[in-house]
Amino acid sequence: PQPPPPLHVAILPNPGMGHLIPLAEFAKLLTTNYGITVTFLTLDDSPRINSFIDALPDTITYIPLLKPSLHDLPPGSKAETYISLIMSRCLPSLREVMVKLKATTNLVALIVDLFGTDAFDVATDLEVSPYIMFPSTATLLNFMFHLEDLDRTIQGEYRDHPQLIRIPGCVPFHGKDLLVPVQDRNDQAYSLFLDISTRYKEAAGIFFNSASSIEPGPIKELMSMDRPPVYPIGPLVHDTNSEDDNSGCVKWLDERRPGSVLFVSFGSTGRLTAEQFTELAVGLEMSGYGFLWIARSPKETGEKGFFNVKSKSDPLLFLPDGFLERTKEIGLVVDSWAPQLAILKHAAIGGFLTHCGWNSSLESIVHSVPMIAWPLYAEQKMNATMLVEELKIAIRPVVDEKRGLIGREEISRVVREVIEGEEGKKLRLNVKRIAENAINENSYKSLDAVVNIWKNSTSI
Ligand code: UDP
Repeated sequence: PQPPPPLHVAILPNPGMGHLIPLAEFAKLLTTNYGITVTFLTLDDSPRINSFIDALPDTITYIPLLKPSLHDLPPGSKAETYISLIMSRCLPSLREVMVKLKATTNLVALIVDLFGTDAFDVATDLEVSPYIMFPSTATLLNFMFHLEDLDRTIQGEYRDHPQLIRIPGCVPFHGKDLLVPVQDRNDQAYSLFLDISTRYKEAAGIFFNSASSIEPGPIKELMSMDRPPVYPIGPLVHDTNSEDDNSGCVKWLDERRPGSVLFVSFGSTGRLTAEQFTELAVGLEMSGYGFLWIARSPKETGEKGFFNVKSKSDPLLFLPDGFLERTKEIGLVVDSWAPQLAILKHAAIGGFLTHCGWNSSLESIVHSVPMIAWPLYAEQKMNATMLVEELKIAIRPVVDEKRGLIGREEISRVVREVIEGEEGKKLRLNVKRIAENAINENSYKSLDAVVNIWKNSTSI
């Protein structure tokens, strides 16, 4: 008899590299360890996304969905509104593709991203099990399950709530540090996000990129729920080949002393205000330590598009006069994108000033690099709270509230502290211990149980 066709899984990512990267790692795990084939259903046709998927193993392919129109959205709508509406308006195109996949492959699951729960309807209609691959923390996943309660029990904006907000198993949060889409109850993003969170319990299972050695309390809490079953599979981080380094960062690092350079990056899209950009430049220069800064042009350039990883204007033009000349012995500033993993694993790196995106945080943990937490958007302030207060692997610079920014002296102070100070030593020991435990935990093996369910469910 013919061997059964391989199990097939469709994955629907949100637009944006920060989402695609962990989902691609997840897809690699499915294909390499379990022989499953994967199709990404993409809503983002930027050249970086397409070439990124093309470079994945042949067992992972992609089908572009029709990009829905969002022209009716008022200007100034939040990124989360755009993403939620893209995900819900793509359903007709999704259905069409899923029908074909179902007819021609051994399709056992549709795995959606953080915002993709509306697609559950398509999956269930076609008798395909709906799953979520949650690309953030177990802490935020707990928050998703409690948002409905918080919405009911807390009046007014969370940022004005006088007490800390407590979610079982998690570090307590100031309301102002909760994720961006819940910060304004009158904004469309809030109700869209609330609706999405209420559907999480309908999932056949939820995968997330963390491990018990990183988030013991939140994971225990999630495991104690009746349903849906949850599967920690982290820390999953991508890798970059340092030979593909067109940016020249790795070569530059090769010339530096071990542990002497601060890596500065704000993720795939993070931008500072022009004033903060200048303050950061001056603060780095004042510190006197080596730095490698992946810079994106300041917000005021008016560039549109939440998901553009590359600045249209040259960020180097916004640096203070003579900055590059004065710092040429100690610093390198790179435009928009660099091989982050090759940098983080380089011996010359002594600290990471990060926007605390969860992928960046995990990548820093895995390579035992202590952090300076500089959260900007999404759930990054929650991540920063966790990294600083709970895991004690990051230091958070104090914001000058009068000026609404982080001043140059404060920047210089935290850089010194992380690279050479007593605090830095403690952070480094902590992050090393957590990294070792997390890597040895092999939590991705929790996938065995799901793959068995898929094998038993297949009708072919
Ligand atoms: N990244 C990279 N090079 C860059 C900037 C980002 O390789 O110059 C990668 C980084 O390694 C991480 C992802 O892009 O895997 C960013 O994800 P994260 O969750 O940290 O932040 P987001 O971009 O989603 O805000």
